[in-house]
Amino acid sequence: MSSNYEDVIIGLEVHIQLTSLKTKLFCACNADYRGAEPNSYNCPICLGLPGSLPVINKKAIECATKLALALDCKYNNTTYFFRKNYFYCDLPKGFQISQYNKAGGKAFADGGIITIKTNGAKKAIKLNRIHLEEDPARLVHKGSIATSPFTLVDYNRSGVCLIEIVSEPVINSPEEAREFLKQLKSIVQYTGISNLDLTGAARVDANISIRGHERSEVKNISSFKEVERALKWEIQRQRNLLKRGKILTQETRHWDDKRRITISLRTKEFEADYRYFPEQDLVPIRIADDFIKKVKDALPEMPRERASRLHRDYNLSEFDSDNLVLDKEIADFYENGVNSDPSFGPKEFKQFCNWLMNDISRHLNEHNKMIKDTKLYPKQVADLIHYINEGKITTKIAKSFIDDIMNGTSISKIIEKKGKKRISDEGIIERYSKEVIQENPKIVEDCKNNPKAIEALIGRVMSKTKGQADPEITRSLMFNLLKQIGIIL
Ligand SMILES: [Zn+2]
Repeated sequence: MSSNYEDVIIGLEVHIQLTSLKTKLFCACNADYRGAEPNSYNCPICLGLPGSLPVINKKAIECATKLALALDCKYNNTTYFFRKNYFYCDLPKGFQISQYNKAGGKAFADGGIITIKTNGAKKAIKLNRIHLEEDPARLVHKGSIATSPFTLVDYNRSGVCLIEIVSEPVINSPEEAREFLKQLKSIVQYTGISNLDLTGAARVDANISIRGHERSEVKNISSFKEVERALKWEIQRQRNLLKRGKILTQETRHWDDKRRITISLRTKEFEADYRYFPEQDLVPIRIADDFIKKVKDALPEMPRERASRLHRDYNLSEFDSDNLVLDKEIADFYENGVNSDPSFGPKEFKQFCNWLMNDISRHLNEHNKMIKDTKLYPKQVADLIHYINEGKITTKIAKSFIDDIMNGTSISKIIEKKGKKRISDEGIIERYSKEVIQENPKIVEDCKNNPKAIEALIGRVMSKTKGQADPEITRSLMFNLLKQIGIIL
């Protein structure tokens, strides 16, 4: 597959459920529908029954204001709701209450920026707008949408509050899209408006085109993880058609994550087809400047500022601090850990970061866990670093402790249980080294011509001592022993 994406233009529309809200956008029904009995959280408003009147959820306005501020959007003091008309079984009213920035309407906020980094270079991805809208019902298919013999409808999701983030078409590769979503997820996590790790809390529509040709819109990519895959597939599909001399037409496609392909849903669909018009049942929303100030003052430190602070206060590289702040829980864990020990300085700050970003992150990824799902606590990592720096255990031994550490066992308990301590007694190491020399005459002979062969002998001492021999002492003893028998001059 081609990795040259210079001619690719991508715009993303990201729908995020405000999972921090207890109730839906226009009614008092419970918004926490996950795991609930289907069609049990409903009322005339979210079922779209005649005569029912929507009432805006004030908390939703507060959440949207938080996000607008965090994304550096230009907020609008007065915004309106519009009806987006279309029929589908997930939308009983026949229209979705959304916001519209044309025909006299205004989005919740305009513009905004998300800065990404790919291959070491920074790029500012401009946003077009963010707006509020209601979620349609949830459709459940058996297997693939294309072959399912039936569709179930669960109206519990109907009316749940969504915020849509629309980027400008300035994303130039699937990798840039992945980075964009990674940064957006981090910003959303810091604002506390949503938990995007919940299934279905984030969904993406992607507009994709090859420069100079018509675009296609891939709908309903159901998780951030799927986006990069869907984009790569769709770009390749369009390229293959062009290679065969075909003309691309504007169309709406569906990402089928079971079969991992996009399939055509409909062609020639334009904005005017939705007959947007003002929602007369809802008054315009006027947001006072002092409300915005209050939200702004309560907004926590955002990942970008936190990265600069970690870079400055803990002497971390830009790379380390950028990575560390991505997941707020990891960054909180880091700061709790390094601040728990007043003796820690730049060396330990860097060691703590390395343990978190390497061995601990790898363990979390392998077990598909978040740090809060484990029993790991900051002092364990601080203790581990102390034991290493005081020469009580080697780094190799420390790495073998990871499973126990993640289960919340203290370092001293692990050492007691495993009997693993650093061996620094020269007499013991010399005895093992002599054994290794006797058992491996061929490697010893190799040491005459190949200075690197000594590593193999040191490795054998390490394995005999189960990684407990101090590597530096072993190296110098082995060197001396080989010298004594005339192998090394
Ligand atoms: Zn309701």
